[in-house]
Amino acid sequence: MATIQYLTHIDFDGGAVDLLPDAIQALGIQRPMLVTDRGIEAAGILGRILALLPSPPPAVFADTPPNPTEAAAEAATAQYLAGRCDGLVAIGGGSPIDLAKAVALLATHEGPLSRYAGMAALPLIGPQAAPLIAVPTTAGTGSEVGRGALICLRDGRKLVFVSPHLLPKRALCDPDLTLGMPPGLTAGTGMDAFTHCVETFLSPRINPPAEAIALDGAARAWRWIERAVTHPQDRQARWEMMMAGLQGGLAFQKGLGAVHALSHPLGALTEPSLHHGTVNAVILPVVLRFNAEHVGSKYARLRQALELDQDADLAAEVGALNARIGIPADLRALGVPMSVADVIVAGAMADHSTPTNPRPLTSGDFSRLFMEAFGSEAPG
Ligand SMILES: [Zn+2]
Repeated sequence: MATIQYLTHIDFDGGAVDLLPDAIQALGIQRPMLVTDRGIEAAGILGRILALLPSPPPAVFADTPPNPTEAAAEAATAQYLAGRCDGLVAIGGGSPIDLAKAVALLATHEGPLSRYAGMAALPLIGPQAAPLIAVPTTAGTGSEVGRGALICLRDGRKLVFVSPHLLPKRALCDPDLTLGMPPGLTAGTGMDAFTHCVETFLSPRINPPAEAIALDGAARAWRWIERAVTHPQDRQARWEMMMAGLQGGLAFQKGLGAVHALSHPLGALTEPSLHHGTVNAVILPVVLRFNAEHVGSKYARLRQALELDQDADLAAEVGALNARIGIPADLRALGVPMSVADVIVAGAMADHSTPTNPRPLTSGDFSRLFMEAFGSEAPG
């Protein structure tokens, strides 16, 4: 049985953020809480958004960590409750949006947060979850149209919280907010979008609409990412990359794969603190090689969408793109120590993305993938 679900009201274009006061009113939110991070504040985006609102919001939480944590979710929830808020506006990349989803949950459901972790807990999350408006400021995570949030729990696990009730009620996608995003972040978030599109396209679940969106998004990211990296003020490149990020988010309800299964536990490391999309970019070629014999005609369809020759080596092409946009060569170059291998492999085996990888994985497979991504073996 196919399950296909598209729900979020999306406004997409330069200037979309100006619709925020209308969106707040349309959802009946009287006392919004803003959730963001210090980078967005320093970039002046928070100030610009505060200036759009008719009155100062009763709560602003700007301390979202790069990989959102249970402790941050609790601190933000305390602020939400103290401000007697009745809705959330998340401004930022995937981290503030995911953190706001956790606040939407914790503020309206009995804790602790860990009760609601994993796909099995989905029925425990009800429609009383606080309404959320998402204003993405990067182009990649797709969290603005996703029903899941990834949060690092106190026990060190990075787990997914999933419910249609956590889906933002409205997404204001304003590509102009990404003008000037630094090249490293543009490359990392853009490759996250590309990886979402590729992994979900390869997922064995049946969802042809999601596959069509994913193929289009992969082609769009492939075509525009270099331009966005090298010309940060190019409005069309920013528009295209934000659309690719959105498309990845719309499509990945079909499930992701081994790249994300590995990058989730890597993202739970406190040292080094890794950028999710950059890690995905590093791992993607390794997983593309691993999956190659298990994807039917899908690599041919991908090559066609990316306008590559049919004899092109997809993994090598992605590796070459990574090099052109400044993505480090391997996990070692990102500062990942070899000593975490066992923890990462165990986390990947338990990850919610593993069952939808096109090739079934054993822990031995994950060990080899980790070693290859680490840089211990010459890429084949
Ligand atoms: Zn991702």
